[in-house]
Amino acid sequence: MDLLNTLVEKGLRRELPTREEALAVLATSDDELLDVVAAAGKVRRQWFGRRVKLNYLVNLKSGLCPEDCSYCSQRLGSKAEILKYTWLKPDEASQAAAAGVAGGAKRVCLVASGRGPTDRDVERVGRTIEAIKEQNEGVEVCACLGLLSDGQAERLREAGADAYNHNLNTSEGTYGEITTTHTYADRVDTVQKAHAAGLSACSGLIAGMGETDEDLVDVVYALRELGSDSVPVNFLIPFEGTPLAKEWNLTPQRCLRILAMVRFVCPDVEVRIAGGREVHLRSMQPLALNIANSIFLGDYLTSEGQAGKADLEMIADAGFVVEGTDTPTLPRHRADAVEAAAAAPAGCGSHAAAGCGSHAGEGGGCGPCGGHTVPEAPAVTEARTDLVAVRRRGAGTDLAPNA
Ligand code: SF4
Repeated sequence: MDLLNTLVEKGLRRELPTREEALAVLATSDDELLDVVAAAGKVRRQWFGRRVKLNYLVNLKSGLCPEDCSYCSQRLGSKAEILKYTWLKPDEASQAAAAGVAGGAKRVCLVASGRGPTDRDVERVGRTIEAIKEQNEGVEVCACLGLLSDGQAERLREAGADAYNHNLNTSEGTYGEITTTHTYADRVDTVQKAHAAGLSACSGLIAGMGETDEDLVDVVYALRELGSDSVPVNFLIPFEGTPLAKEWNLTPQRCLRILAMVRFVCPDVEVRIAGGREVHLRSMQPLALNIANSIFLGDYLTSEGQAGKADLEMIADAGFVVEGTDTPTLPRHRADAVEAAAAAPAGCGSHAAAGCGSHAGEGGGCGPCGGHTVPEAPAVTEARTDLVAVRRRGAGTDLAPNA
């Protein structure tokens, strides 16, 4: 297929595909899907080999958010029966992080609900980062605290943060339909602040919110332009009690095409399968590892993921290896750029930043055949509320975490 040969060649050269090419990936047929995965796999292996990076979420503060992001179970007015708690103490957060690191995670992602942190919150998270780094040699820490004010990114960097997450989530054109309490421009601004302070930018998207193919391509191109080093791809978990509860419109095949499009547009960037992996990719998860080079281990912010042990088995069974702390995630040319930015005086602002961190961690029968019945498999587009489990263990509870 000419399209796929072209995309592989461009991906190996880190050349930007045209919008038409990116849209064509999303429009491929089911007959072409394995060829799409194989093509994206060639690009993935060029830049990341067969390594899978594991990331571990610690929800520092859950629920009760004043913002109205429609996809979020922690939003203003959410009726979702999620865990609600205020800031974990640094030693509690460090303990939760240690469980993820022991399970194989290389990066700990510290997330707090809310519009953005106060300076006091930033100091508290700074102490948490120091505690985690002291107790877990070589671990990377990413903070995701919402919109940042001037100087806060610099303080997080001084405390030892390696990265800041703030997702763009969707295209600029549709952002106002998803959230009204802040803007797309606010999100871009925070990612730029983080990047200018020398933090690695982590910024991604949420698919499945009713967006068009054009919207998906728009947001991925925006992420590339902003210079995101890692791109989390969330698949909406339509939580009961949120405005998007009925948006069950993803199939495993659609998820694979979206991941492949992201890989072709951002070939040398950490593409991370984020919230909704188990719910929407289901038994196709191992195939998706041929495209993405990073996943979350264990549970998400407000929902439960598959057992950490099952994640590790899946990676091994699919022929991949868990990335160790001694191996850089990013290809040399990108890692050098991140190191140069971190070494530069904070606030030099010499490069564009990437994305923004929302707290979206989460979204036949048989004919007569001789007397026996075959169990009916659910249709691929059916609402799979049976696969959504609200998190009841780990941070904020007395129960052991999933790691
Ligand atoms: S995504 Fe973040 S800012 Fe938006 S409602 Fe959820 S917790 Fe609040």
